[in-house]
Amino acid sequence: MSGPRWMRERIEVGALAAGGALFLTVHVLESPEPGPRLGLVATLHGNETIGAQVIAEVLRDLAGGERWRGAVVAIPVANPPAFEALTRHTPLDMLNLNRVFPGTMDGWASEQLAHAIWTRLHGAVDTIVDLHGADGFTVNDYIFLPQPRSPAHLRARALALVFGQVWMYEAPDTPGSLTACALAAGIPAIVPEIGTDMWRASEFVALGARGVRNVMRLLGMMEGAPEVPLRQYIVRDRVTLRTRHGGLFLPVHGMESLGTEVEGGTRLGAVGDPQTFEEREVLEAPYGRTVIMLARGRSRVHPGDYGYICGNAGTAQPYVGEGGTA
Ligand SMILES: [Zn+2]
Repeated sequence: MSGPRWMRERIEVGALAAGGALFLTVHVLESPEPGPRLGLVATLHGNETIGAQVIAEVLRDLAGGERWRGAVVAIPVANPPAFEALTRHTPLDMLNLNRVFPGTMDGWASEQLAHAIWTRLHGAVDTIVDLHGADGFTVNDYIFLPQPRSPAHLRARALALVFGQVWMYEAPDTPGSLTACALAAGIPAIVPEIGTDMWRASEFVALGARGVRNVMRLLGMMEGAPEVPLRQYIVRDRVTLRTRHGGLFLPVHGMESLGTEVEGGTRLGAVGDPQTFEEREVLEAPYGRTVIMLARGRSRVHPGDYGYICGNAGTAQPYVGEGGTA
């Protein structure tokens, strides 16, 4: 039997000011055996580059001869201008691409990109994994757990539970996001938040690739039980600790503290003045039992940058995976 067919498409979105092309590259990997069609998207936020590496790993793996069913439609770099500039927002219009779905052809550049992405995926896939992560100065590791609002939400919830991240944050849909747009159209969609490319990147790529395989197993695209951790937790309260002041961020609990628990009031990090060396502010653990879901390394910060995302471990609900193995 012949192996999977790997096709690559180029979607022309428009011309850039100086003559370059604004386009998207879409990979379609089709197994000879028909089955579910999975959409993989990464880098809607241009500075979250680990997802593109996860997609590369997954596609290479699936093309390698192992038996699976269905098709994967993948867009590794969903926001090329933001990837190029290594920014969260699209530099052409300063918009957040993941807040303007389903987009429009007659709108801002980000809306045109959203329209191109949504038009390509809608009707072509029946599940979407939208890979996010942290930038080079921060690191995160959790997955958004959709609330049980509709059949598509329930299906997405099952996929998020099986993706295999220890910390899961149950939250309402984010308006204008690809996942909210997909869920409203009845397509289950999930958002894993994975890693950074500046530290332990290969481990985060492996975590993401394992998660996609777990999703494929639950969808019946692949044999075998999903590999999920023995202990997983559903977090319902969390806060984002942003820096009120810019300066030099000096962590006590830096990237190595990701996923660990600290006591309330613990000094997590501080912002210092790089010229006078004075301390401008201190960031402390907000909950009696605080789990660090996003952490920042030593770096320059602007006012309003991510310092930490902290979850309330005290009210977190242990979740025991069904049929999973450690
Ligand atoms: Zn993101």
